[in-house]
Amino acid sequence: MSDETNPFESLQTQIDDAAAYLDVGDDVIERLKYPERVLEANLTIERDDGELERFTAFRSQFNGDRGPYKGGIRYHPQVSRDEVKALSGWMTYKTAIVDIPLGGGKGGIIIDPDDYSEAELERLTRSFAKELRPLIGEDRDVPAPDVNTGQREMNWIKDTYETLENTTEPGVITGKALDSGGSEGRVEATGRSTVLAAREAFDYLDKDLEGATVAVQGYGNAGWIAAKLIDEMGATVVAASDSSGGIYNADGFDPVAAKDYKNETGSIVGYEESEQKLTNEDVLTLDVDLLIPAALENAIDADLAKDVTADVISEAANGPLTPKADEVLEEKDVFVIPDILANAGGVTVSYFEWVQNRQRFYWSEERVNEELETVIVDAFDALVDTYEEHNLENPRTAAYVVAIQRVADAFSEAGSWP
Ligand code: NAD
Repeated sequence: MSDETNPFESLQTQIDDAAAYLDVGDDVIERLKYPERVLEANLTIERDDGELERFTAFRSQFNGDRGPYKGGIRYHPQVSRDEVKALSGWMTYKTAIVDIPLGGGKGGIIIDPDDYSEAELERLTRSFAKELRPLIGEDRDVPAPDVNTGQREMNWIKDTYETLENTTEPGVITGKALDSGGSEGRVEATGRSTVLAAREAFDYLDKDLEGATVAVQGYGNAGWIAAKLIDEMGATVVAASDSSGGIYNADGFDPVAAKDYKNETGSIVGYEESEQKLTNEDVLTLDVDLLIPAALENAIDADLAKDVTADVISEAANGPLTPKADEVLEEKDVFVIPDILANAGGVTVSYFEWVQNRQRFYWSEERVNEELETVIVDAFDALVDTYEEHNLENPRTAAYVVAIQRVADAFSEAGSWP
């Protein structure tokens, strides 16, 4: 990508863009641009063949002014200190825009998990949990899944923590399996908020979602659920991609059958309902009504943004547009629903999971989905109010204005501490 941006710098640019509209001093803004602390750990585990291998892991606790740090743990070869710092900042403003009483954190291990056995991944995850133990806890820092981690890893972390602490504390981590204290609706939550936010945006823009065409980049947890739910809302999913490439059918295809195909073969490429194979870039620039980027950050840079023809983008992924791409899309009047709102369903239902764990009382899936819808609709309304009140140039800045003001207010109300 020609303007590939350090994600931490992207975060700081987004905060600076919003600062101009905030009733917050520069000194407070400066504080809100950096993590409170970052753990860097070296984890050495035994491979199945008896050799030792070292891995670098991070946990960034960005801000705890509104509640315990909250954010996922990612296993990926491209994990870096700056990526984890950026993601933890986005979590801070994500929990603030949806107004749940949590702060922001994020973690990751530099690893390609495909190259390791389940037993090796368990040893590595438990080793990371041991390092995290003094930092986490249901009132301190509550990790969750992210790219290449899921219920399995969360259950290992919970078990390691509870064993070492000699307690039961399911709220130390979210995204757990149902039998281990997980919440109904958690697996679908990120894709659900992505499409709820898109529905609200179409309504706000007076556009019809029924029959609207949709392209989805990334067919993992967030992307495929978004495809399934938007299809159920009456839109037509015409294209999707994963790391192996993209597929296209002008009449739309069945998102569930495409997922089944991916489960069987490892990729959606080759799925029988696709009439044309596309590159990942083709999927991002297709002439559709709605584009859902649901892979990794920096998927669309300024060059690619020039070719984007979607009317609305709902960011399921974190940071899929570079700041320069944002500028280009703003000039083209593309309505971008920012990641901190569009994909906030994951952390919102994580919050519901944490509430249920603390109450030791569990909700129905229907209740979870209803509460989630209320949170996302309220957050979208707050965004739009600010967008119109300040006549802002794009919805992302509006989201940051709302979110940063909330964090700054909590910080200021707490007063100074030497
Ligand atoms: P995942 O690992 O389940 O899926 C990622 C998908 O992206 C896979 O299908 C992969 O093949 C695809 N992909 C990777 N590189 C690609 C490329 N260059 N082009 C097209 N596809 C590509 O991960 P996920 O949980 O769905 O997360 C996706 C994004 O959503 C991440 O940015 C993550 O931070 C964000 N997110 C996820 C959650 C959640 O609850 N899962 C919550 C908030 C945000």
